[in-house]
Amino acid sequence: MNIKNYINGQNENPINNEWIDNYCPANGEVYGKIPNSSKADVENAYNAAKSAFPVWSQTTFEARSRILIKISELLEANLQRFAEAESKDNGKPISLAKTVDIPRAASNFRFFGNAITQFASESHESVGQEAMNYTLRQPIGVVGCISPWNLPLYLFTWKIAPAIAAGNCVVAKPSEVTPMTAYLLGNICNEAGLPKGVLNIVHGLGTTTGQAIVEHPGIKAISFTGGTETGAHIAKVAVPMFKKLSLELGGKNPNIIFADCDYESMLETTIRSSFSNQGQICLCGSRVFVEASIYDRFKIDFIAKVKQLKVGHPSEESTNIGALVSKTHLEKVLNYIDIAKNENGIVLCGGNKVIIKDFENGYYLEPTVIEVLTNECQINQEEVFGPVVTIMPFNSEDHVLQMANKVKYGLSATLWTNDLKRTMRMSSQIQAGIIWVNTWMMRDLRTPFGGVKASGIGREGGFEALRFFTEAKNVCIKY
Ligand code: NAD
Repeated sequence: MNIKNYINGQNENPINNEWIDNYCPANGEVYGKIPNSSKADVENAYNAAKSAFPVWSQTTFEARSRILIKISELLEANLQRFAEAESKDNGKPISLAKTVDIPRAASNFRFFGNAITQFASESHESVGQEAMNYTLRQPIGVVGCISPWNLPLYLFTWKIAPAIAAGNCVVAKPSEVTPMTAYLLGNICNEAGLPKGVLNIVHGLGTTTGQAIVEHPGIKAISFTGGTETGAHIAKVAVPMFKKLSLELGGKNPNIIFADCDYESMLETTIRSSFSNQGQICLCGSRVFVEASIYDRFKIDFIAKVKQLKVGHPSEESTNIGALVSKTHLEKVLNYIDIAKNENGIVLCGGNKVIIKDFENGYYLEPTVIEVLTNECQINQEEVFGPVVTIMPFNSEDHVLQMANKVKYGLSATLWTNDLKRTMRMSSQIQAGIIWVNTWMMRDLRTPFGGVKASGIGREGGFEALRFFTEAKNVCIKY
């Protein structure tokens, strides 16, 4: 199926009529084309957004909210179709697309549809000066949203929903690797009554289409989720243009397991935090540190459980690990396994490609556990973003804290312990934007989401996202 751009409420071919192949990771075959959009398509999208802005920004909160909630309901009504499309496009198990990706995309619209009706601004009475200040929270105008391939619709809508809820108009680009559900979203928006031009979706490569969005002088804010290198490049372009910028970037998250934890619950969750979505979640705990006294027991039990995971075709309900997103990505992950071996890492299980009958060209990889001797090695310092975790023992709280922080990233961390004082100490000292204690990826959409260090700048989620997508203007009245 050929995907089209969604501009001013219409499905449009790219002006230059250039197309990119769209691959199905499960079998390695091309199953459609996507627009290789140029600057001219971005310009059209921008013009549509700009024209829609005066009316949309003056539309009441109730009316905006109703439309967002309608989009959410339509996504829920089309759950199966969207989940199948996401699984085919990305390689993720259908069970995951059905229970996580699409329900969460629907929740994003519902949440921000509700949040905008509760979003208040501040007032400050200047006592003794006979003056009153109040803050206006005004939409920015036309904003750009750029998202990655790992949680395609989930992360695309995480940006779009707050942007339009706050009264902005959007030029958005999903990853060229997983464009399908963003394409399907256009028709849902029309059906929900979203006025034309409020949301425009332009498909294409990052270096051309994405770059054109970032460089566009009329696009005043960029919300980007993706790799750290891309984020740094975007910042170089956007900062001298004084654009508002939110960057959600890579991670190399520690999963810290103390001997006093609830062992069974830790084991179950550590399987998920290591291998969910083929390990292609920025929040996955890819460095597992285990207190020395339970290290041998953990090693045996963990590997036994990893070996039970079924690598299979994404459309099968029983599949735990689907296909990696692309051939290039599979090669990158395999290369990291070689690097780990060369630096004396011991592959305890996995490490090889999996050939699935009838789908021999699909991008399948065994879930892989590597024992490392030091946190300083390359496999522990760089983001692999695949079904690969390292494990190593630690002796003390200080030792593990130092290793957890000795990495350039700072997105999230997981702690397994029942010691309250230790929880409080470690949570305050770990350098990360998100800490989970005795759980992983438990999300409450009201909470701030984002990272420190090379994991990004700014926070999304809840009112943080609505603050990002509005400009605060103070009005001071002397009476
Ligand atoms: P990527 O940086 O290659 O691409 C992300 C998006 O940016 C894509 O849409 C791409 O086309 C676009 N892009 C690329 N170059 C661009 C440019 N010069 N100008 C504008 N846009 C450009 O990342 P990816 O490989 O799609 O995704 C994986 C990365 O995303 C991982 O590093 C992962 O950790 C990160 N990620 C972070 C979070 C988070 O919330 N922090 C969430 C998910 C993924």
